[in-house]
Amino acid sequence: MSGSTIFARIVAGEIPADIVYQDERVTAFRDISPQAPVHILVIPNREIPTLADVGEEDEALLGHMLVTASRVAAEQGLAEEGYRTIINCRDHGGQEVYHLHLHLLGGKPLGRMLPGAGE
Ligand code: AMP
Repeated sequence: MSGSTIFARIVAGEIPADIVYQDERVTAFRDISPQAPVHILVIPNREIPTLADVGEEDEALLGHMLVTASRVAAEQGLAEEGYRTIINCRDHGGQEVYHLHLHLLGGKPLGRMLPGAGE
């Protein structure tokens, strides 16, 4: 088995996923439990546990993740009306899978960023 998380196994092709884009640096696939009509995860192929673990050497990779999210969003027809990207980090961020991933969500108005915030 390659990798320590389920996402590493998706990158390696060891378990199935609905992959919408993949290159030598990143993989984008549909979330198995979608929270919006379009819910795609963009991950680095290399295992980085959390956003708190990145360094300057990861700047290009992180930029590539964002550019990939933008391109995938456009391909999914989300660009005109917009969408949301989220990176959850560690415990307080609600991160469940410890392989860095960017959520791309869209396809309907998503409402407030944090329900109940500011009330
Ligand atoms: P987070 O809470 O930010 O760590 O998000 C983890 C996300 O991974 C959740 O939205 C899950 O639904 C999703 N997920 C977990 N296992 C899989 C899988 N095998 N394929 C696709 N998405 C998954």
